[in-house]
Amino acid sequence: MLPSEAGHAVAVAQPEPMEEAYPTEVRRLPEESRLRLTWSDGHIAEYDYDYLRGYCPCAGCQGHGTGEIEYRPPKAPVQPSAIEPVGNYAISFHWSDGHATGIYRFDFLRRICPCDACRADRAEGGDSPTTQPA
Ligand SMILES: [Zn+2]
Ligand SMILES: [Zn+2]
Repeated sequence: MLPSEAGHAVAVAQPEPMEEAYPTEVRRLPEESRLRLTWSDGHIAEYDYDYLRGYCPCAGCQGHGTGEIEYRPPKAPVQPSAIEPVGNYAISFHWSDGHATGIYRFDFLRRICPCDACRADRAEGGDSPTTQPA
């Protein structure tokens, strides 16, 4: 058993602010058809597979456009048959419909996080601390 680091709180001055959060764990939740990402800053995000598939950022799915990734609902429910890291900045999914060219950058995944707190953040332009503490 590895001892947990929780509870061992030490005040450490952080010389530089954490910039980009990255997922420390990617877990499939097959019963819920969801993917759970645990982020380096402690945030936990759960994405429906269809939601992720619909947000596939590849050119084939998005076409040429404004640069904004739009949600394009999949024609049929999908599941990730494989999930692979891409460098240290993104994740790629092999979907059960055969599609596998989407590169989901961490910052993008974070941006589309469907949790209530992130939704509220986006709805309000991101700057008001009106959400309840975790
Ligand atoms: Zn795509
Ligand atoms: Zn979130």
